Amino acid sequence: MQHDVMHRRTGTHKQQMGPGHETEMADAPVISRLAVIGAGLIGGSVARAAKASGAAKTVVVTDSSPEARKRVREIGGNFADEVAETSAEAVKDADLVVIAVPVGACGEVAREISDHLKPGAILSDVGSVKTSVARDMAPFVPKGVHFIPAHPVAGTENSGPDAGFAELFVNRWCILTPVEGTDPAAIEKLKAFWEMLGARVEAMTPEHHDLVLAITSHLPHLIAYTIVGTADELGDVTESEVLKFSAGGFRDFTRIAASDPTMWRDVFLHNKDAVLEMLGTFMEDLTRLTRAMRRGDGDALFEHFTRTRAIRRGIVNIGQDSAAPDFGRQHGPLPIAPIARPYASDDD
Ligand code: NAP
Repeated sequence: MQHDVMHRRTGTHKQQMGPGHETEMADAPVISRLAVIGAGLIGGSVARAAKASGAAKTVVVTDSSPEARKRVREIGGNFADEVAETSAEAVKDADLVVIAVPVGACGEVAREISDHLKPGAILSDVGSVKTSVARDMAPFVPKGVHFIPAHPVAGTENSGPDAGFAELFVNRWCILTPVEGTDPAAIEKLKAFWEMLGARVEAMTPEHHDLVLAITSHLPHLIAYTIVGTADELGDVTESEVLKFSAGGFRDFTRIAASDPTMWRDVFLHNKDAVLEMLGTFMEDLTRLTRAMRRGDGDALFEHFTRTRAIRRGIVNIGQDSAAPDFGRQHGPLPIAPIARPYASDDD
């Protein structure tokens, strides 16, 4: 299912959302009152971006953790206009409710807010898995409320109220997975909201979303969690050696493997079938590469690495990552004194 309403861009002027970022902006807020449940990386970024862009007139935020609510109050107006003590209180009179909690908690939050949602409101989420979240939330969606699950494909390895930032969604994709028969005007409104946050919007079925994200996000995380764990358990290589000599490839895996344990536990439990399917294909390919290595088949290895290099270049070409080497990391200045042997060259 591809919704062709997904191709309009709102806005009549441009506004800066941060250094180097420019997004088209509408004149008026799309949403009068936005409620965000879950004040972590994604909820905090939605709230901040809604404030920074003017996509919502009023932003109310809540979280089950008292420390998180306290922190949102301390951060203040860039994050939220109001902090509610409970989810039920937060959604009162809200036109758009965004649930931004781990996917395993979405059904429970939907149950808590069900009786308090305003007729005509849009209920959405940001969960990384869509089939199970839609299944868990749907029974608690009252008649007259538009339920449109969503997933912004953007994030970092950090979590909590201080992790979010307003520019997180700029030029990233937000995938909507509305069920057939959803009011097109409500879909259009949610799309306009995400576009004001800087995102590009596409729609697909929840099942297709889960399959695509299994290979682009969930399996890479599983591999990163595995390889960092393997390095940690090696007998012949000490932990301090792993840390000290971590090459670029391993360091990049450690960044992914530092992602929030609760969030990722829930992703693997809730997108089990799609991840297992992709894992099966991955293991077959790994076996093929292992065989090529064992047999000294350099051509097979070279052909494979050439193909994967082209994929990386494709991602850079469509603007989904920087072309800067080493992900644009800053490197320190050259040392004044030569680096001590054995690292310096023998000619110095
Ligand atoms: P996070 O930084 O850990 O934030 C989640 C927040 O929700 C925490 O403050 C948590 O409080 C709170 N929470 C948990 N259960 C709750 C409940 N029942 N009611 C109210 N608040 C509750 O996690 P996140 O990275 O923002 O992830 C949130 C959602 O976004 C997840 O569904 C995830 O799949 C999705 N997502 C994440 C990324 C990413 O890269 N991180 C990207 C796209 C989408 P406690 O800490 O006290 O539990």
